[in-house]
Amino acid sequence: AEAPSVLEVTNIEVVYNHTVQVLRGLSLRVPEGQVVALLGSNGAGKTTTLKAISGLLALENGALTAGDVLFSGTTTRGRKPHELVHAGLFHVMEGRHVFEDLTVEENLVAATYSRAGASARDFDLVYEYFPRLYERRKGLAGYLSGGEQQMLAIGRALVANPRLILLDEPSLGLSPLLTEEIFTIIARINAEHGTSMLVVEQNAAMAFAVASYAYIMETGRIVTDGPVETLMRDQDVREFYLGMG
Ligand code: ATP
Repeated sequence: AEAPSVLEVTNIEVVYNHTVQVLRGLSLRVPEGQVVALLGSNGAGKTTTLKAISGLLALENGALTAGDVLFSGTTTRGRKPHELVHAGLFHVMEGRHVFEDLTVEENLVAATYSRAGASARDFDLVYEYFPRLYERRKGLAGYLSGGEQQMLAIGRALVANPRLILLDEPSLGLSPLLTEEIFTIIARINAEHGTSMLVVEQNAAMAFAVASYAYIMETGRIVTDGPVETLMRDQDVREFYLGMG
């Protein structure tokens, strides 16, 4: 039997500024407890897809003009981003977006406001995954390196304890070593907490290492999808879509 979907996106269309259509009937699903990758070239619409799911689109003069997004079986249409965070849907944006004028610890505390009853244990958990953040917990987030800020952005998602994390390009701007470290932790979070994730990545090899299923998109729609083991063995997919030769 199929695992139930924590996220079900059906035939969505997105238009920016009433004029530019970026998504053209895109559908995908994330089964409960799984990591799903969303891949594709620059400008294909990956970030827009995540924003359409989390409600951030409205902040950018974008609109969902057709289709539907079901999170835990309920539509997200018309719901504010913070309401969706409360409901357990956490979007880790590209470019990290931490509060630079707050300390590492304060950034984590701020992320718990969306949920009742966060405890010291939740912070310990983040510090266990990211010892580097523990060392720097009293320091301003603005002074962290790019990699450390990415760790903090993921740590913020962790303390919010969501059912689904949307992760936009976790490897962006990171060294290969740090990228590997971040992906190891993404895999651990999924394995140890069963947190479902939809991960947008340019680094297909990394995405394939953590995801069980992947969608490849081009100009606003999905062109190929399948279990990662199948896609990895598909020579056309490797060459044309993933640049993996
Ligand atoms: P990248 O990897 O470069 O982030 P992407 O696949 O995530 O690419 P999007 O960022 O979703 O793609 O952008 C898809 C298209 O939508 C691009 O042509 C982009 O110029 C356009 N777009 C994105 N945001 C806006 C906006 N706020 N207003 C108008 N057009 C936008």
